[in-house]
Amino acid sequence: METNKPYRILLYYKFVPIDNPDEFAQEHLQLCNELGLKGRILVASEGINGTVSGTIEQTQKYMDHMHADPRFNDLWFKIDEVDQPAFQKMHVRHKEELVTFRVEDAPKPFEKTGKYLDPKEFYEALQDDDVIVIDGRNDYEYDIGHFRGAIRPDVKSFREFPEWIRENLGQYKDKKIITYCTGGVRCEKLTGWMMDEGFKDVAQLHGGIVTYGKDPEVEGRLWDGKLYVFDERISVPVNRTDEDRVIGKCHYCGEPEDRYINCAYPKCNRKTIAHVHCEEEHHGYCSPECQTKHHAEEELDEVVG
Ligand SMILES: [Zn+2]
Ligand SMILES: [Zn+2]
Repeated sequence: METNKPYRILLYYKFVPIDNPDEFAQEHLQLCNELGLKGRILVASEGINGTVSGTIEQTQKYMDHMHADPRFNDLWFKIDEVDQPAFQKMHVRHKEELVTFRVEDAPKPFEKTGKYLDPKEFYEALQDDDVIVIDGRNDYEYDIGHFRGAIRPDVKSFREFPEWIRENLGQYKDKKIITYCTGGVRCEKLTGWMMDEGFKDVAQLHGGIVTYGKDPEVEGRLWDGKLYVFDERISVPVNRTDEDRVIGKCHYCGEPEDRYINCAYPKCNRKTIAHVHCEEEHHGYCSPECQTKHHAEEELDEVVG
C-alpha cells in the first residue's frame, strides 16, 4: 500500500539465541536513541520482540541496521504508515522470556512450533466447521474484535493459557486447531507448548492479525470488530470489506462501541470499553468504588502535602 504518511510503526519479533541479552539491551537502547525512535522492545536470550515508531527515514535506518546483523537478516517487519508517532518514550528491556509464559521446559519456537498458515490458508481454515479456532490473546483484546467463531480465551495474561487450555480444551486434542494473535509472537510459543501437551494438529496465523488485515486477497474477511494494539492508537481496523462491524459493548450503557479507556483511578487502571459521553458522565471511573477511593486518597495527599 503506497501512502504519503510521514511516520511508520514497526512491529516485529524473532526467536533466535542472543548471548548476553542484558548487554544487548543496553546497546540497543543507545542505538534507538541515536536514531530517534520511540517504542518498546523486549530482549531475551531467546530473541527480540518490539514495536517502535519514527519517521520513514529513522525506521528505515533501523531496519537496515537490523538486517545487516546475521542473526536478524531475515527479520520480518510489519509496517504501518501513520500520521503521527505512536509512542512517547523509548524502552528496551531485558526479560527472561519474550512473552511471559513461565512454563518450565516449554519448547523454544526455534526448536518446535505449530505449522504456519498464510492469510489465505487461515481464511480457508476458518470456514471449515471441523476446525477449532483459538484466540491466543487476552480476554480484553478479544472483546473489541476477533475472528468469527473463535473461542474467547478466559485469560487476563498470557501465562494463564496453560491452565485454561488444560481445563477447557482437552477434548480437542485430535481436532485440527488454528491459533492467532496480534503479530504472531504469542502463537509461536503457544502452539509449541500445545504440541507438547498432545494436541496433534496445531497451526498458527503467520504474521498475525496485522498481516491478515493487509492481505490484498482476504482483505480482513471474517474478522469482526477492531484490533487492539499496544501503542497510542489503542485499536485499528482489520476487516476492509463492507462486513466490518462493531462488536464491543460499552461498560456503562451496554450499547455497541469499540473504544477502550483506563479507569481514572490510577491504582485500578482497569480497561473498559466506553463511549465518550458515558466516560464523561462517570468521570472516567470504572465503578463508584474507584471514584470514592480516589477522592479519599486525593484528600489524604493534600493533608500530607
Ligand atoms: Zn455507553
Ligand atoms: Zn476502577
